[in-house]
Amino acid sequence: RSSVERFEFQAEVSRLMDIIINSLYSNKDIFLRELISNASDALDKIRFISLTDKEVLGEGDDTKLEIKIKLDKENKILSIRDRGVGMTKEDLIKNLGTIAKSGTSAFMEKMQTGGDLNLIGQFGVGFYSVYLVADYVEVISKHNDDKQYVWESKADGAFAISEDTYNEPLGRGTEIRLHLKEEAAEYLEESKLKDLVQKYSEFINFPIYVWANKEVDVEVPAEDDESSDDEDKRRSRTPESTDDEEKENEDEQKPKTKTVKETAYDWERLNDVKAIWLRSPKEVTEEEYTKFYRSIAKDFGDEKPMAWSHFNAEGDVEFKAVLFVPPKAPNDLYENYYTAKRSNLKLYVRRVFISDEFDELLPKYLMFLMGLVDSDTLPLNVSREMLQQHDSLKTIKKKLIRKALDMIRKLAEEDPDESHDKDKKEEDESNENDEKRGQYTKFWNEFGKSIKIGIIEDSANRNRLAKLLRFETTKSDGKLTSLDQYISRMKSGQKDIFYITGTSKEQLEKSPFLERLKKKNFEVIFFTDPADEYLMQYLMDYEDKKFQNVSKEGLKLGKDSNDKEMKESFKELTKWWKETLASEDVDDVKISNRLADTPCVVVTSKYGWSSNMERIMQSQTL
Ligand code: ADP
Ligand code: MG
Repeated sequence: RSSVERFEFQAEVSRLMDIIINSLYSNKDIFLRELISNASDALDKIRFISLTDKEVLGEGDDTKLEIKIKLDKENKILSIRDRGVGMTKEDLIKNLGTIAKSGTSAFMEKMQTGGDLNLIGQFGVGFYSVYLVADYVEVISKHNDDKQYVWESKADGAFAISEDTYNEPLGRGTEIRLHLKEEAAEYLEESKLKDLVQKYSEFINFPIYVWANKEVDVEVPAEDDESSDDEDKRRSRTPESTDDEEKENEDEQKPKTKTVKETAYDWERLNDVKAIWLRSPKEVTEEEYTKFYRSIAKDFGDEKPMAWSHFNAEGDVEFKAVLFVPPKAPNDLYENYYTAKRSNLKLYVRRVFISDEFDELLPKYLMFLMGLVDSDTLPLNVSREMLQQHDSLKTIKKKLIRKALDMIRKLAEEDPDESHDKDKKEEDESNENDEKRGQYTKFWNEFGKSIKIGIIEDSANRNRLAKLLRFETTKSDGKLTSLDQYISRMKSGQKDIFYITGTSKEQLEKSPFLERLKKKNFEVIFFTDPADEYLMQYLMDYEDKKFQNVSKEGLKLGKDSNDKEMKESFKELTKWWKETLASEDVDDVKISNRLADTPCVVVTSKYGWSSNMERIMQSQTL
């Protein structure tokens, strides 16, 4: 071997590998899924580059974008090979020795407290799962810009890299050789491997083959024809022989070969690559959607996506899309909200994967959605930057938002707990809708904040988003309610939607601002999330009703006939108060009918910040 360079793993990687190699985790199968997913990513990359530069694909076998798996029982080696983009020496050092993405330490913490290795792929460290089944791994890789290199490691804190002068040249791509542990011998069984590929990798868009023992049809000479001078005749009977030759011989003698079954090694294709999003939504089963969600979200937990929408947009801009609401929000969904790249949509153009970092497809507040868009309208052979500027993206984005909000609205409509209509509610109590019961509350708890941010940021869809808002009120009895429900309960003559903001419902329930409203039987919304204060600066009205903060100036609870009289009789007192409190902090002193038992309250001016907002602002600057 030529000179070997040794490297230490980044400390975090080393710890992760220790955990993996010593893991008693029972589901070791996941390594194959991770390797196939990496191979598929690498193939996507080279195919994308080839759109603008055909040369990169090379010629002959190198142009075949496929994945091949081989089992070497004798030496206990499982190898998986792709004709993807490959890795340069530098790539090998960087990609298989350090962890770039954040969130890894979160994963490590999870792992140390018995977390689920099944989710490894979500954290950008899926490759290391090979050490669940192997104690020694070689990665042979050839990138167009470099020579062929071998990366190898026994997971002992270090890895080595050397120029590959001894293996067969790969042309382009990567071969990963797993020297399997004693107890992982089952992965050398073809049947096991086939099962795994079918189970985990059915949505991979490249053909996957396994080098398998297969029954094949072989033409052998017929028994009675085993004479010595038969060589030539037999050759003329092989399938390659031309029609002419065939005819020539036909008259002379009957064919002297027969077909027999023989077992031999051959590449066996394991998946068919009909993309799910190209099929009619009517044909795709719930289970298929769930599996598809898991494969694109790398979320191999037990939970199903909360909802999905699969549609085909036609017209000026044509595309197909599948959107999913994941079962849970990631822990860091709202961290670095404005700076983090977090698109979860894969963009395809005419079946070709373009990018999963295309942030122009959805507004930030909807980036919790997972899924895929396949456009027929976008051009294929332009750079990503050019695509990002393309006009039809705006149309795609607009339609995606509509469909996404429809999907979320339906989630509420189908939830029997959400029903406005009492009769319908009772009818639903008894039927099979149990599975959908409470699903909107679940959605709201996970992603409600996104809806609020949407109201703030997306003025074009503000009303649609406001429909999706949920909150508690003085009358909601501890349950969540909607603006539509609030409006349906409004008292006759009530013009405004009343709300109050504060830190908690318990605190707000004692507020003197509510006294008179309660006495007069008005319903008041409790807004207790700091985001609500911002929200209400943008949400001025809903269905022609204005919002009125009951702790602010301007609260009108219908006309009181003795208003004028009262003002008159307290004139002197208000004047005295005004003079006594004269300062920059107090704008005005007024007589009002908003209180019942409490003699006086401090009220914020109509356009000023509420006291709750003052508190939020303070906590942010401290
Ligand atoms: P992720 O796939 O989430 O990035 P992995 O740990 O699975 O994380 O892989 C780490 C990196 O190693 C990949 O991002 C990729 O750059 C590189 N890599 C792994 N397998 C291959 C492969 N078969 N071909 C090319 N690059 C690969
Ligand atoms: Mg991966």
